[in-house]
Amino acid sequence: MAATLIKGKPIADRIRAEVAEEVAGLGHVGLVTVLVGEDPASEVYIRLKHKAATEAGFDARDIRLPADISAEELLERVAELNADDEVDAMLVQLPLPDHIDEARILRALDPKKDVDGLHPFNAGQLFLGRPTLVGATPLGVMAMLREHNIEIDGAHAVVLGRSDIVGKPMAHLLLQANATVTVCHSHTRDLAQYTLEADILVAAVGVPTMVSPDMVKARSVVIDVGINRTEAGIVGDVDPGAEDVAAYMTPVPGGVGPMTIACLLQNAVRCARFRRGELAYPG
Ligand code: NAP
Repeated sequence: MAATLIKGKPIADRIRAEVAEEVAGLGHVGLVTVLVGEDPASEVYIRLKHKAATEAGFDARDIRLPADISAEELLERVAELNADDEVDAMLVQLPLPDHIDEARILRALDPKKDVDGLHPFNAGQLFLGRPTLVGATPLGVMAMLREHNIEIDGAHAVVLGRSDIVGKPMAHLLLQANATVTVCHSHTRDLAQYTLEADILVAAVGVPTMVSPDMVKARSVVIDVGINRTEAGIVGDVDPGAEDVAAYMTPVPGGVGPMTIACLLQNAVRCARFRRGELAYPG
């Protein structure tokens, strides 16, 4: 029996409509993205984020900076945005050019405006089991699992990838939902040994169709975060043939991608509420 497809768009559309109502209620919500250089993939993400933000009624500002900007100049721009009362939420699109220390820039963000949850305070809150601002992609995955009433408590969840933006926060959210979590990465020996034990498999590696159908446990839940540009178009990290093995699976495109954008907007509203004191930001 073919897997039930967990499509992101219907859930994302609903979230975006809710966000638009919240933005209207708040009156003004400012979301700023900062893109350094001209990475084509980053440009696509920024464009999609702005389109969605503008449609939801945000005051969305798209700041483009040259690839040769110094770390000091970038820190100055971040400080200006931190101090700007019109800015509720912001993100610096990663990766940054090699000469800039990303961690230093992320530490400089006002944690209340850190819509990607990458400031060490927000990342630390998640680590400690007190999620405050968490990256949109793992939040989107959790929303998809909830939507389909997938039982996480007690399940064995295997996360492929340990990036700061997807793999690590994903593993923490699943752990907090009482899954038993295994995190795999490029040094993991015999990946299939783990994936075949996964009741919930989240693939976030960035290697086209790396997870073959014979690596998937029968009747499991497969979440494919991968977005890989190939000559054949955009493909995920999981071979679509896994649909014949899994009980649930997310398509690529049209799965996690739309959820990331919707949850980013949700996070931006959360930032606005923190800044207005409507939600208590941990002091
Ligand atoms: P990343 O920073 O490059 O991290 C990739 C992770 O996968 C690393 O932890 C790496 O291990 C691991 N890995 C790489 N090759 C592997 C292999 N052969 N076997 C096992 N593990 C392997 O990527 P990312 O930012 O997390 O993104 C991952 C994928 O998700 C990409 O395709 C990206 O485009 C996509 N993505 C999609 C969305 C969305 O909205 N759907 C959002 C963000 C990212 P090491 O740590 O050992 O290097």
